[in-house]
Amino acid sequence: DMEVAIKVVVVGNGAVGKSSMIQRYCKGIFTKDYKKTIGVDFLERQIVVNGEDVRLLLWDTAGQEEFDAITKAYYRGAQACVLVFSTTDRESFQSIETWKEKVEAEVGDVPTVLVQNKIDLLEETVIKNEEAEALAKRLKLRFYRASVKEDLNVTEVFKFLADKYLQR
Ligand code: GDP
Ligand code: MG
Repeated sequence: DMEVAIKVVVVGNGAVGKSSMIQRYCKGIFTKDYKKTIGVDFLERQIVVNGEDVRLLLWDTAGQEEFDAITKAYYRGAQACVLVFSTTDRESFQSIETWKEKVEAEVGDVPTVLVQNKIDLLEETVIKNEEAEALAKRLKLRFYRASVKEDLNVTEVFKFLADKYLQR
C-alpha cells in the first residue's frame, strides 16, 4: 500500500490566519499572539481518506507574503492550495484572485479551496455573504467559512482537498 503525500500551500495576505490554521490542524493548538513563523518549512498531519493513508504537508510562509521570489519557491511542487481571507480585512478579500493567479502561474490547476477565516468575528464583518459566495462561484472554488480560533471547518477544508486530490 503506497502512501500518498500531498504538498498543500496556504496562501493569502498577512494576518488572515494562515499560520494559525496550519498549527491548529497539525498540532491542535491556537495561540492568540501574532507570532511570525520562523525556520519551519511545513508541518504535517496524516489522515485516512477512503481507506487510504494520506500525509498532508502544510507549507507556511515566513510572513514574507510580499516577496515574490520567496513565495515562488514556496509554491513549487504544490499539489493543493488553500486561499485564505479574513472576515475583518477587506483588502485580504480583494487580493484573493491575485493570489490564485500567482499559485496557478507556478503550479497550474491544482485542487483549491476558498476560505473565509475568523468567522467568530462575524459581527465585525466587512464582507457580505453574497460577495464571498459570488467570488467562489466566479473562481469555481469550493467555499468554506471557518474559525481557526473556534476550530470550525478547519479539518473539513483539508479533508476536501485530500479527497479532491485522490479523485484527480
Ligand atoms: P498569517 O499572517 O496569515 O499567518 O496569520 P496568523 O496565523 O499569524 O494570525 C494573525 C492573527 O489572527 C493572530 O493574532 C491570530 O491569533 C489571529 N487569528 C487567526 N485565526 C483566527 C480566527 O479564526 N479568529 C480570530 N478571532 N482570530 C484569529
Ligand atoms: Mg504566518
